[in-house]
Amino acid sequence: MSNQPIHIIGGGLAGSEAAWQAAEAGAKVIVHEMRGVKVTDAHSTDNFAELVCSNSFRSDDHEQNAVGLLHEEMRRCGSLIMRAADQHKLPAGGALAVDRDGFSLAVTEAIHNHPNITVVREEIAGWPDADWSHVIIATGPLTSPALAAAVLEKTGEDSLAFFDAIAPIIHYDSIDHDIAWKQSRYDKAGPGGTGADYLNLPMDRDQYYAFVEALISAPLHEFKDWEKVPYFDGCLPIEVMAERGPETLRHGPMSRLVLPIRATRRSNPMPSCSYGRTMRWARCGTWSGSRPRCATVSRPKSSG
Ligand SMILES: Cc1cc2nc3c(=O)[nH]c(=O)nc-3n(C[C@H](O)[C@H](O)[C@H](O)COP(=O)(O)OP(=O)(O)OC[C@H]3O[C@@H](n4cnc5c(N)ncnc54)[C@H](O)[C@@H]3O)c2cc1C
Repeated sequence: MSNQPIHIIGGGLAGSEAAWQAAEAGAKVIVHEMRGVKVTDAHSTDNFAELVCSNSFRSDDHEQNAVGLLHEEMRRCGSLIMRAADQHKLPAGGALAVDRDGFSLAVTEAIHNHPNITVVREEIAGWPDADWSHVIIATGPLTSPALAAAVLEKTGEDSLAFFDAIAPIIHYDSIDHDIAWKQSRYDKAGPGGTGADYLNLPMDRDQYYAFVEALISAPLHEFKDWEKVPYFDGCLPIEVMAERGPETLRHGPMSRLVLPIRATRRSNPMPSCSYGRTMRWARCGTWSGSRPRCATVSRPKSSG
């Protein structure tokens, strides 16, 4: 390995992991992170590996799920992200969810304390310095406009894009606990849970169709200028799925098949609504917060 340091631009999840792995392998690493001197539109702290939305790393089942398998491979590779996630996991059925503050503080501390890593708080506002022999650009979906413009120019692309979903928050005390019950999807206890880490709400036939109707007719989130919405079929907002037909949800994310029926639970004639990573809807009309959606963020060449 050459004596030249590896420059990593961005101290998010990817940049932190890359810095850690390179440093553990003996390389000198310089991480250039702009938060601290320049904010993004979504982060709210200066911490490394800040999760800006969901605190779930999805399934942790390494035998049945590709994401869980990736988790396990990362653990076996000495991953900092997985170590911090395991230290700060929260009950979430078969998913790996984390306390976002504890998680990012643990990553921040590990990066700052590693003897091979230097942290510089600055924006790299253009193509990286030609003298840097090893560079990793890990600036994520909120790459600063100046660097995004340089990447566009270098690659000849018209725009950069990512797909994302935002889940609404439901107030706990708005839920009718006389009808709600706790059960994780597929009854999985998962890494930090009991098999009863999600709150589910039953609907009968009329409630289900009223719910679909409410979804279709509800006012929509107004997108920011930098958000465009050509949807990705693998990550559709719930109201878009509902618009595709009244039966779509009950054969998709609201399928009762994810909740094995227990002898002690009342029979449930229609699909349940699970308060979890992909479905966070309570009874019709009781949710509050923004609507889930998928957005593509495009940065036109002129934006830098
Ligand atoms: C609004 C929003 C909601 C999201 N919701 C989810 C979700 O629910 N689930 C999910 O899995 N993913 C979600 N994502 C995507 C999430 O950001 C990524 O999963 C994850 O953070 C990507 O890691 P990263 O390291 O690539 O980028 P980030 O974690 O964003 O890290 C990139 C870092 O680069 C820094 N940076 C940017 N430009 C420069 C520059 N020019 N110079 C120096 N530093 C720079 C930034 O400050 C940031 O710290 C969401 C993203 C956004 C924007």
